[in-house]
Amino acid sequence: MFHVCQVNSDRDRLRLLSDLAGDAEHTAWRLHGTGRFVAPPIAGATILPPGDRVEVRFDDGRAVILTEVELTPQGPPTLEVRNIGQLVRFDAAGRFEAVPDAVVRIRRDRIVSAGPRAEFSMAAPGARVLDAGGAVVTAGLVDPHTHPVFAGERAREFALRKAGATYAEIQAAGGGILSTMRATRAAGPEALFEGGVRRLLRMARFGVTSVEGKTGYDLTVEGELGLLRVLGRLSARCAVEVSPTLLAAHLVPPEFAADRDAWVRLITDELIPRSRELAVAVDVFCEDNAFSLAETVRILEAAVAAGLQARAHAGQFHSLGAVAEAARLGALSVDHLEEVTDAELDELARAGRTVAVLLPGAALTLGLPMPSGRRFLDRGVPVAVGTDCNPGTSMTENLPLAGTLACLQAGLTVEETWDALTRTAARAAGLPGRGNPVAGAPADLVIWDFAHYGHLPYHFGVPHVRTLLRGGLEVQLESE
Ligand SMILES: [Zn+2]
Repeated sequence: MFHVCQVNSDRDRLRLLSDLAGDAEHTAWRLHGTGRFVAPPIAGATILPPGDRVEVRFDDGRAVILTEVELTPQGPPTLEVRNIGQLVRFDAAGRFEAVPDAVVRIRRDRIVSAGPRAEFSMAAPGARVLDAGGAVVTAGLVDPHTHPVFAGERAREFALRKAGATYAEIQAAGGGILSTMRATRAAGPEALFEGGVRRLLRMARFGVTSVEGKTGYDLTVEGELGLLRVLGRLSARCAVEVSPTLLAAHLVPPEFAADRDAWVRLITDELIPRSRELAVAVDVFCEDNAFSLAETVRILEAAVAAGLQARAHAGQFHSLGAVAEAARLGALSVDHLEEVTDAELDELARAGRTVAVLLPGAALTLGLPMPSGRRFLDRGVPVAVGTDCNPGTSMTENLPLAGTLACLQAGLTVEETWDALTRTAARAAGLPGRGNPVAGAPADLVIWDFAHYGHLPYHFGVPHVRTLLRGGLEVQLESE
């Protein structure tokens, strides 16, 4: 876990200096804001940026190297969020709770304790107090399905489609995923990183602190590995944590049109083994014009054999059988599921591990029927909701809006929507421990600008974050 500091105020400088004077060698220090590394002026010290470590040299000769070390919440709280009108959390059985008049205590980047004020009548001595002003406080939102690293955009194609052109016509005219692939290949890692920074910052403004993020727009071996490295850099340097997924099986690249099996072999024999240190999961787009069920199974079995997690885009247009196979392989998630049979849902419920991820932004964009979240929940399948943020079929960073669509169009209750945007989304993203503000969890919290938790899906389309805490520190949400 990391500290996340935007060092652009005197207060933050003081906090940073107190960190340095204390147990700096056990403190990881990341700087963000718009995601850039910022070397802040510190009186009497020179900061040598950066790399994966930060060195601070004091004029008196001391030097401190800050590296990434897991912090445990021992010792007194350093921050206390008080006057919380409703604290949204989930009990051990996963039941939704809105605890009135609550307090959250934080030590550095972890929650130490959280609960009704009666249990915390005295403010913890020495802790900074953040007054929530009677507002709702929740865990930071988790987006379990995003494609955040790409170049270019497809607004022109959108206009053509709305004027009546079919997807096939657009693809024949050089549009679709291939146009994003060409732009991405031409962009280079710096431009891709900068684009990712902008998207993640927009997500943070809507209350998101963690996302699952996929590759899939380069579709060469070195390029896909490069995209995984960009995702890793984004996670290390931005306010939003990224759980990286290899999606080399997004589309068969044009170079392999005559020998698609060669691309599948490159994925299973070269990309997956080389992704072990860079990715958490491997995803496959199982669909008529993408990858068959047999190819999907080969790729996901290779992922599991390499110690990576599996997930699949399944049932967006057709039910090809990937859902049951993903459940059998213990996949983290199966995503889309506009087309899914009751038998497949029962398979998921029985297997008990795999989360169904609804992507209502994609259904909205493509004019497909909303995936029936109510039906999934009623059959015992855990449900999360993601943006599917991507340039073709869901161009949005607004996760709460996806929650509103799930609530209004897919039949989720407001309480189930919160679960789908936090606790269960974290499970789908491969980020256990996120999404529920309980003792020991990372101090990723949102203080919202409303007093009842129903407000988030109800008042849709606009940002509602008053304060975003990532790893116990306030995130600077404005651009520089
Ligand atoms: Zn997707």
